[in-house]
Amino acid sequence: MDVKENYKAVEEKVQRACQKAGRDRSEVTLIAVSKTKPAGLIEELLPLGVKDFGENKVQELTSKYEALPKDLHWHLIGHLQRNKVKYIIDKACLIHSVDSLRLAETIHHEAEKKGLVMPVLIEVNVAGEESKFGVSVEETLPLIQEVAKLQNIAVKGLMTIAPYVEDPEDNREIFRKLKNLSVDIKGENMNNVTMDVLSMGMTGDYEVAIEEGATLVRVGTGIFGERNYAAV
Ligand SMILES: *Cc1c(COP(=O)(O)O)cnc(C)c1O
Repeated sequence: MDVKENYKAVEEKVQRACQKAGRDRSEVTLIAVSKTKPAGLIEELLPLGVKDFGENKVQELTSKYEALPKDLHWHLIGHLQRNKVKYIIDKACLIHSVDSLRLAETIHHEAEKKGLVMPVLIEVNVAGEESKFGVSVEETLPLIQEVAKLQNIAVKGLMTIAPYVEDPEDNREIFRKLKNLSVDIKGENMNNVTMDVLSMGMTGDYEVAIEEGATLVRVGTGIFGERNYAAV
């Protein structure tokens, strides 16, 4: 398996999806989801100019942050425990998974200590799957109204993890709902809140997500191959 070749193939599909949707390629950032994969494999992508990587565990993000060049952008895409916020507050470029006011308050406090404003996304469980984190569509605006009061957080948009499906078309409606929700929230014109970022689409469905307005797609398996959790 050649991660460079995989990456180039995904990049081509991203370009084609942008073309099909009449969008500029620069509107979409391809995040290489490197969770469970060694730093050495990430290094293979660096000559291609790849800068954006996604991790779902704090410990893994921080150790790869230490091991790799400092100009990379680390996206925290997994569920975040409050007691671990302090470890990533000045290492992650964006936290995709804010789903409670308590977590937002912790991020605010840790960001304040470091004198920075932390960009975050609100994770929405659009499909209402029991097994998933994230707030419901109905809870999203009320949560953002509270988070907006926290000076050391900037809400940049929304994120969703769509259900696992065989046919990516089955997730089109989910992506459309997230986009519509972000448009509604943007219309509220809240301080500290912009809705320019939509993090949606994974290996199985990123092209459909791009057609529906994704600005960040999170692709793991399509670039790095299957994950072997038993070996980690
Ligand atoms: C693992 C993961 C991905 C990547 O999934 P693939 O199907 O391997 O592309 C994307 N987003 C989140 C939140 C993940 O945890």
